[in-house]
Amino acid sequence: MTADSATDRHFERALASLRGLSVGDALGSRFFVPANYPLLKERALPPGPWQWTDDTEMACSVLAVLAAHRRVDQDALADSFARHHDFDRGYGPAVNRLLRLVREGGDWRQLASALFQGQGSWGNGSAMRIAPLGAWYADDPEQATHQAEISSYTTHQHREAVVGAMAVAAAAALVAAPGGPPTPEALLDGVVALVPRSAVGAGLRRARDMLDYRDAGTVAAVLGNGRRTSAHDTVPFALWSAARSLGDFEEAFWVTAQAGGDVDTTCAIVGGVVASGPAGAPPAQWAADVEALPDWLPGAAA
Ligand SMILES: [Mg+2]
Repeated sequence: MTADSATDRHFERALASLRGLSVGDALGSRFFVPANYPLLKERALPPGPWQWTDDTEMACSVLAVLAAHRRVDQDALADSFARHHDFDRGYGPAVNRLLRLVREGGDWRQLASALFQGQGSWGNGSAMRIAPLGAWYADDPEQATHQAEISSYTTHQHREAVVGAMAVAAAAALVAAPGGPPTPEALLDGVVALVPRSAVGAGLRRARDMLDYRDAGTVAAVLGNGRRTSAHDTVPFALWSAARSLGDFEEAFWVTAQAGGDVDTTCAIVGGVVASGPAGAPPAQWAADVEALPDWLPGAAA
């Protein structure tokens, strides 16, 4: 096998995950519109096209940097985030300001570490964009986890945000693994084993113990649904939901969206993880209703 064909395979896997992520993000974001609440209950689709948000925009930078560098280059990643930052895509205020300052010549290392009185952001922003990286490293979940850790520091330096990104990348890598997707229990056990002790890790252990719950609302009440937009309030529930519906994108989406909270982000994480695996692609009609990926991402033309 040539290096190019290996890279192509990595890219194709990551692109499949990115497409799932963008469908989850774009369709999920439609359910912030109060007029669409009844549709959510009925599992009915709002009229397209659906625009994606910051989750997809940042994930495109992750994939562009992997394609160019075959690993996470932090300077290139921060530069891509800043250059492609579209203020109207629903970024949080801290990241909006950070990316504007980086674009104006600021040092991402100083700016990201100074957020929140020097604690760094614990938001879910580095987890929401990272599933395609996990799919890229499908044959190496340890490397997926390591590269996700490095990627988080460019914007989110709090330990919980870093571990949240590691967990999502680990999940996507395990789902995309050459031997086929694991059982729900094995998936969450595998993720727990790959992440350090943390609130995210504790949430994931709780999620593992709740895999037999049928009611997502009950689970979200315990694990969180992203309402606080923190990594620890978002990632355990998203991975619980992904684990239960591997191979069934539609079911994964509706269960996740109906739990409310930070719906575009929980659905972006779930969509990116589920679409990393075989039979996890979104329905063709859903994908067709999502705005095209940006033309600055090489190889993304539909
Ligand atoms: Mg968003």
